[in-house]
Amino acid sequence: MREEIMKSEKLNTLGELAASIAHEVRNPLTVVKGFLQLMKKQVKGDHEEYLKIVLSELGRAEDIINDYLNFAKPELEKVEKINVKEVLSDVTVLLNAYALKEGVYLEADLKEDGYLLTDRNKLKQAFVNIIKNAIEATPPQGSVTIHLEVTHTQVIITITDTGKGMTKEQIARIGTLFFTTKDQGTGLGTSVSMRIIAAMGGHVHYSSIVNRGTVATISLPLNQSAKFDSNLENAYMNNQNA
Ligand code: ADP
Ligand code: MG
Repeated sequence: MREEIMKSEKLNTLGELAASIAHEVRNPLTVVKGFLQLMKKQVKGDHEEYLKIVLSELGRAEDIINDYLNFAKPELEKVEKINVKEVLSDVTVLLNAYALKEGVYLEADLKEDGYLLTDRNKLKQAFVNIIKNAIEATPPQGSVTIHLEVTHTQVIITITDTGKGMTKEQIARIGTLFFTTKDQGTGLGTSVSMRIIAAMGGHVHYSSIVNRGTVATISLPLNQSAKFDSNLENAYMNNQNA
């Protein structure tokens, strides 16, 4: 028991250290990116190509840093009333270009409104990581479908892909820090998403068949504190009546 406490304290300190480094590194990166974007407008030929690569790698570095920060600090910072349907629709627009590039059809079936009191950006990040994985697992011509269902107690989001799937062993390891099967993978994405969803009182579940595809199911409870917010109370009641 004591060992376990020590271990988790160690992890905490490491997490804080990683977070502070990530935070400090992010500022100069943003400055560098800004100047490179300015330069890109002025250069032509080969150099334009080089700058494109530099910027895309810089973007990758930013993503990794953000994942570390989100992992170290999954606490909800800015809690507000959000519509999960809108967040998912934003994320779909954001990832559509990426899906197109990979030749994957990204479809969203978002009919119902689902109101939560939570941190919009964190929720977005959680969705992006999980949907990005689905796109990356899916071969060209395949599809990734996002579905939203709202019950009177929770919001259920399913992300279904027709990708390569996972073995039992892989499913057992998903969500553990640094587990990756990709050459350029960090193994941070699902851990971050699961931690964020857990901080929201929710849960992520994976089921998968090798060579057939994967379904990621995210369930989020409708906030208890929702009852104390008059706008949300209406939403809560409407959902209950539905
Ligand atoms: P990364 O994407 O950097 O590898 P993640 O934590 O996002 O790290 O994902 C960990 C691993 O989980 C992936 O490398 C992949 O093997 C597996 N995985 C996650 N989502 C899926 C999916 N939808 N289909 C197949 N494998 C998946
Ligand atoms: Mg990933």
